[in-house]
Amino acid sequence: MTDRPRSAPMPAALRTGRPAPHPARSIRCPHCAAAPGARCTTVSGRHTKTAPCPARIAAHAQQTAVCPTCQVAPGTPCHDDGIQRPDNSSVHNRRYEEAEEMAWPA
Ligand SMILES: [Zn+2]
Ligand SMILES: [Zn+2]
Repeated sequence: MTDRPRSAPMPAALRTGRPAPHPARSIRCPHCAAAPGARCTTVSGRHTKTAPCPARIAAHAQQTAVCPTCQVAPGTPCHDDGIQRPDNSSVHNRRYEEAEEMAWPA
């Protein structure tokens, strides 16, 4: 008889087929200033968007994930071989994946 350790509990939202809100929604949007938890809007504030602004996704990845590409810690902007990126808010593609994996474990 094997007594297997229980695997990590599955987030219910992932198994019920209901899409979880994008993890970037947990922070304030630096682009359209949507409050934490609120959907992004157009800059005029008149229309809500289904997907968060790209700047919000980047800011969320920067705040929560270690970058697998340039190895910086959460909260630190990405760099290219030690040179700061011209756009300080952009992050490497793999950092987006890292942030989503932490929020939405497979
Ligand atoms: Zn936004
Ligand atoms: Zn990076």
